[in-house]
Amino acid sequence: MDIDGEGDSMDELKSLRITTLDDDDEDITVDEDDNDEDDEEEEEEEAVILGFVEKPEHNWSLLRQQFPSKTGGVPAWLDPENLPSGMPCVCDICGEPLQFLLQVYAPLVEKDSTFHRTLFVFMCLSMKCLLRDQHEQWKRHPDKQSRSVKVFRCQLPRTNPYYSSKPPEGNATDRPLTPGAPLCNWCGTWKGDKFCSSCKVARYCSQKHQVMHWRLGHKLECQEPSLSPQASDSSTCHGGIGQSRAPIVASKSLWPEYEMKNEHESEYDTEMSGDEGHTDNSLITSNRVDDGMKSLMDNFEGDGDKKSWASFQERIAKAPEQVLRYCRSAGSKPLWPILGGRPCKADIPLCSYCGGRLCFEFQILPQLLYFFGVKNDADSLDWATIAVYTCEASCEGVGYKHEFAWVQLGTSINCPS
Ligand SMILES: [Zn+2]
Ligand SMILES: [Zn+2]
Ligand SMILES: [Zn+2]
Ligand SMILES: [Zn+2]
Repeated sequence: MDIDGEGDSMDELKSLRITTLDDDDEDITVDEDDNDEDDEEEEEEEAVILGFVEKPEHNWSLLRQQFPSKTGGVPAWLDPENLPSGMPCVCDICGEPLQFLLQVYAPLVEKDSTFHRTLFVFMCLSMKCLLRDQHEQWKRHPDKQSRSVKVFRCQLPRTNPYYSSKPPEGNATDRPLTPGAPLCNWCGTWKGDKFCSSCKVARYCSQKHQVMHWRLGHKLECQEPSLSPQASDSSTCHGGIGQSRAPIVASKSLWPEYEMKNEHESEYDTEMSGDEGHTDNSLITSNRVDDGMKSLMDNFEGDGDKKSWASFQERIAKAPEQVLRYCRSAGSKPLWPILGGRPCKADIPLCSYCGGRLCFEFQILPQLLYFFGVKNDADSLDWATIAVYTCEASCEGVGYKHEFAWVQLGTSINCPS
């Protein structure tokens, strides 16, 4: 049927050339093979951008009008009004509101609608939920999956109601054009569309957070509204039209906030001398990762896993403090630490909005947990990698679109095959 639309199919051909010229129907059988041998070679050719965490230089550096990439703290929502609400904000397994993990500012130059584009990752704090999530992701019915890790994509054209079309000055004078939706006073993360019934000032995303706040301080505050931060400084409560600092958040359990800085992986190519990561900056490898992973090596059954782990380690050792690897180009693939527990193409759902393919965009490394101060206990949150797949077309639409995360845990025992 496509034969007539020559112009269109030329474009499609370009992007599909790597896989096959045949019908979609054949993809599943053809692509399963992809999983096995040829990843490593292709991987070497991809230009990967690495993400590193740093304490923010200024208190305004991570505000949304600066279009930051950041980890921990609260999200700097790109579209400050049409925030996700309801079910998307909670863990599908335990029902707790999800915690903000990180966001990556990743605009795409090819179209105006993606002039600004940010990807947000949230997860449940419970390792039990992540283990359940791990099983769910293998079910090939995306609409029925119960997940504890969720990814949202938001994009805006250059001319939009929320930000100036001029680039930010990169200083404290930058202001967004609108205040944005009021946020939960407890988590500072999700929309605060429920009020404290007593003072009618404090706002919450959920009853759970209202109860938390009540127990841990609001009970007193509530009787004297002048004490509460939102009453004394309205600019912070609403994400502020004159927002020059981050909103005040009552919860003390958010992860520590860092700015994420990018570097090309190629810049680290010459720094390694075959010393297997025992360089000065091998803080992480010598500390958290080595310990956890040595015991993990014992669980590996085949040589495949050991080989896969060794080549993963070798690659990561170029810059052991990396927390994120970004590579959005045709055919790019995650660097899998372990052979087992990798998805094949049929495990990656189609975009639930446009029906198009999802492609790999970035992966999150467990080094981030070290910077977050997460303990290395048996029941602490842990993962080998989280790979994020997003709509290849980065399809249009207002607000936040669900994308897909694939979690690979530290052992291959959960894999079906
Ligand atoms: Zn949960
Ligand atoms: Zn909340
Ligand atoms: Zn109250
Ligand atoms: Zn799409």
